[in-house]
Amino acid sequence: MGAWVSERPVSYLVLARKYRPQSFEDLVGQSHVALTLANAIAVGRVAHAFLFTGVRGVGKTTSARLLAKCLNCVGKGGQPTATPCQECAPCKEIAAGADIDVQEIDGASYNGVDEVRRLQEGLNFRPARDRFKIYIVDEVHMLSNAAWNAFLKTLEEPPPHVKFIFATTEVHKVPVTILSRCQRFDFRLIATATIAGRLREVLAKEGIACDDLSVATLAREAAGSMRDAMSLLDQVIAFSGDRLTGEDVARVLGVPNRRVLHDLAGALVGGDATACLLRIDELANQGFDLAQVTREILRHLRNVVVSKVAGSTARPLLDLADEEVRDVEALAALADADDLVRIYQGFSRGYDDVVRSGQPRIALEMTLIRLARRPPLLPLDELLARLGELEKRLGGGPPSPPRGGARGGSTSTPPQAGSVTTASRGTSSRPVMTRGALALATSSDEPLSDRVPEVPQPKGTNLSPLAVAPLPASAVVPHRVEPAGEESFGTSSGEAGSRGILESLVVFRAILRRIAESHPAIASIFDHASVREITRERVVLGFGPQSFAGAQAKEPEVLDIVTRAVRAYFGAPTQVAIDLSAGGGSDETVAVAAAASRREASEKARAAVENHPLVVEALRLFGGELREVRFREEEE
Ligand SMILES: [Zn+2]
Repeated sequence: MGAWVSERPVSYLVLARKYRPQSFEDLVGQSHVALTLANAIAVGRVAHAFLFTGVRGVGKTTSARLLAKCLNCVGKGGQPTATPCQECAPCKEIAAGADIDVQEIDGASYNGVDEVRRLQEGLNFRPARDRFKIYIVDEVHMLSNAAWNAFLKTLEEPPPHVKFIFATTEVHKVPVTILSRCQRFDFRLIATATIAGRLREVLAKEGIACDDLSVATLAREAAGSMRDAMSLLDQVIAFSGDRLTGEDVARVLGVPNRRVLHDLAGALVGGDATACLLRIDELANQGFDLAQVTREILRHLRNVVVSKVAGSTARPLLDLADEEVRDVEALAALADADDLVRIYQGFSRGYDDVVRSGQPRIALEMTLIRLARRPPLLPLDELLARLGELEKRLGGGPPSPPRGGARGGSTSTPPQAGSVTTASRGTSSRPVMTRGALALATSSDEPLSDRVPEVPQPKGTNLSPLAVAPLPASAVVPHRVEPAGEESFGTSSGEAGSRGILESLVVFRAILRRIAESHPAIASIFDHASVREITRERVVLGFGPQSFAGAQAKEPEVLDIVTRAVRAYFGAPTQVAIDLSAGGGSDETVAVAAAASRREASEKARAAVENHPLVVEALRLFGGELREVRFREEEE
């Protein structure tokens, strides 16, 4: 028993335990916790239950033991102290985990009925020697309900001689009834610089030489956890002995060499795709995990951006050794801040692909190629000047603001023209980076078709070339319902040509859309119908002789719903008949005709966009080419 930590120097003790803080002054990175606890102890207002939360390795269990020492130390008089003496029996035994009144319980394995009963019984007894009986429960979120209940009873009426210190990485799993009875402390991730400082202290005490790069790499890899930092240090010392170099540390920890990362980032910024691929090949051959490499590249690019933006004031923000800072600054000097941000964003998107991909190497390579081949950025003022010129040429002053949804539902709206995608002329194989600029000029909120004066309007049909959406009934009626006596819409131009069929279908689709609002299943039956006749007096709908849809359509309740819709549409006592005989007029169904009319309208719209003066002018000014015309998804 006793302080065997210092009595057995020969046997190897892992650094995390050897340099475990013995007082709150030694506890690094959690000064807010240390200060609050010290104050509470000083003024004699110590809670009877504490909850320490935070990710692993940030000092929760260590702090629990420190607090236990503070509460039970007898070296500083008869009261708890914020600065335990480290000499008395409780101090020494708690440090060694051997104090009979300070019980350390692992929540994950403390769930049996017997254990809980023993705990409950034990709580009633006074401490054997110390001032308080202290229960330190680690991973407390793993406790069973029975164990919680045992604690809860005590927490509701705490005996003055019992203190609880709960520690957990997952505070959201702790019952609220417990939470509300604890004083809670949130442990933070420890800053990289703080970890680096502690590593230097430990290395100095151990008599091990090190360079900046080795410490910076270790601190970075510890990712905020002091315990991780210490175990990584153990690992590195086992490999390197009493002299640490950045290169060795990187090798042991599997971190890609900074030089390679720097070269890679340099090639990326300089647009050299081949060099990028060679570096990746090098790293892959050395057996590096490419997902980790990708993370490192991302971090490196972040540092370059930060350095570019903040200049020399960025140094504290970088977590890098001095020589690394020099590299980063040199790279930052080579490129424009906007370009660097663009590379970072592109790479960040690629990062997700790499991590998710079953083929991380290929995903990484493609990301690098795409970014290395990015087209140059045009300065913003130049773009603005070109835009201004574009507006002047169009002669209309500033563009009118988008009118948005106010026009929704009106057939005169041809809203389907979407964004126009272009790429720089002469570099057509390059990725599309100018899209944003042109999309600005031809924002899809401002349909191009508003300014298309010369779009050919097919006569006798209401289908404007851009109106690829089905036409609402309200818009069709005024055109279609001709003066009384008109025999048939389908033959209004005197011939039963394809246009007549199309018109009939347009009218019928308008009716179907009304039906679909209340009876979508019934409307879909009639997608398979052909319209054999459609007038105010009579509507004849055709189906194939063996058609299942036809049989459904003949059902009285179905026919009734359709009849009512047709009558409502025409405002007349129209008769509706279902014709199952073959060859009674056109067999073009609503669905087929609708697809054909959409296709036709889309082709016309594309031609209209291509020839639109605004688009022609924009392509000329920005040196682009028309890649693709996209239409908004049709709302059916
Ligand atoms: Zn003491």
